[in-house]
Amino acid sequence: MQNAMNTYLDNIRRVVPYVPGEQPAGKVIKLNTNENPYPPAPAVEEVLRASDADVLRKYPDPTIGALVKELAAEYGVKPSQVFVGVGSDDVIGMAFLTCFAGQKPIAFPDITYSFYNVWAELFRIPYETIPVREDFSVCIDDYDGEKGGIIIANPNAPTSLELSVSSVEELVKRHPECVVVVDEAYVDFGGTSALPLVEKYPNLLVTQTFSKSRSLAGMRIGFAIGQEALIKAISDVKYSYNSYTLNTTAIAAGVASVRDRGYFEKTCAKVVATRERAKERLAELGFSFPDSKTNFIFATHESVPAKTLQEELKKRSIYVRYFAKPRIDNYLRITVGTDEEMEALYSALREIIDQCR
Ligand code: PMP
Repeated sequence: MQNAMNTYLDNIRRVVPYVPGEQPAGKVIKLNTNENPYPPAPAVEEVLRASDADVLRKYPDPTIGALVKELAAEYGVKPSQVFVGVGSDDVIGMAFLTCFAGQKPIAFPDITYSFYNVWAELFRIPYETIPVREDFSVCIDDYDGEKGGIIIANPNAPTSLELSVSSVEELVKRHPECVVVVDEAYVDFGGTSALPLVEKYPNLLVTQTFSKSRSLAGMRIGFAIGQEALIKAISDVKYSYNSYTLNTTAIAAGVASVRDRGYFEKTCAKVVATRERAKERLAELGFSFPDSKTNFIFATHESVPAKTLQEELKKRSIYVRYFAKPRIDNYLRITVGTDEEMEALYSALREIIDQCR
């Protein structure tokens, strides 16, 4: 008897992909994907206006040299300590492929950025999730024991909570056997960066993004800073996969954005001020939430289920993020918009909550 014939399907990789937040068309109040409500630095617009289509005949600089140099100067490190990629998703993906190549499971919180387990599955990296505490805090004692790697989003998403930089340092110190990646996508909204620790710890890699605090989600720019050996290893992997990652326009836009520190600081401060007001207003409406250090608030209501709120808001063209996942399925992740957008949110919420009474 002959076995059933194999088909091409037996050779196909099957994965369960990450599901990004909805990008609705048309005029809506979009508080569902943690974008910045303000435009990028004015110099970025200049770059776009002055761009010459003829330069696109040529490949972009594979080293992304101009932006690497700018970031190195901005963060006080050597260019050889900076890796730039197509959003921090690309950077973190490359970090998984490079830094988590051992046999031991890597570890990350059970409630965190839902791309981590997707990369682990894709790259066939064994992993374990460590439950965050009841109040959603990450406790580094829960990470004791030898690991193949650790990744922590700090502040964490979608919980919005920050782990102190001294705890981050302790974690890195306790795990010299592996690389600890600290994903700082939201750090610019009042968090404390672990970047100064990079000089001290060869096993620390810090990643950041231009998508939130620099209002450039559509341009796709992210970066990692670490010691030279680690950055070299990640670059080698990148050059083994796709040499030309950032396009010419993105490189120039990134440079322009970093050069305007004043605009960056002003915009972040505006988002933080709106967030602090949002905490008061949401509490008045009967919401509770962890103390956010990000550009979003992770909120649960005392009487109305999160799913109902999300659906009712959507009917009113207000989009917020809902995750149908254990432990967090009664929470909404609400991105901080402009003051005007937030006022529209509060009125809609008040109406919905009154209706449900
Ligand atoms: N890390 C975290 C924690 C995030 O929430 C996001 C945004 N989805 C990213 C990384 C990736 O952002 P980007 O690729 O736009 O830099």
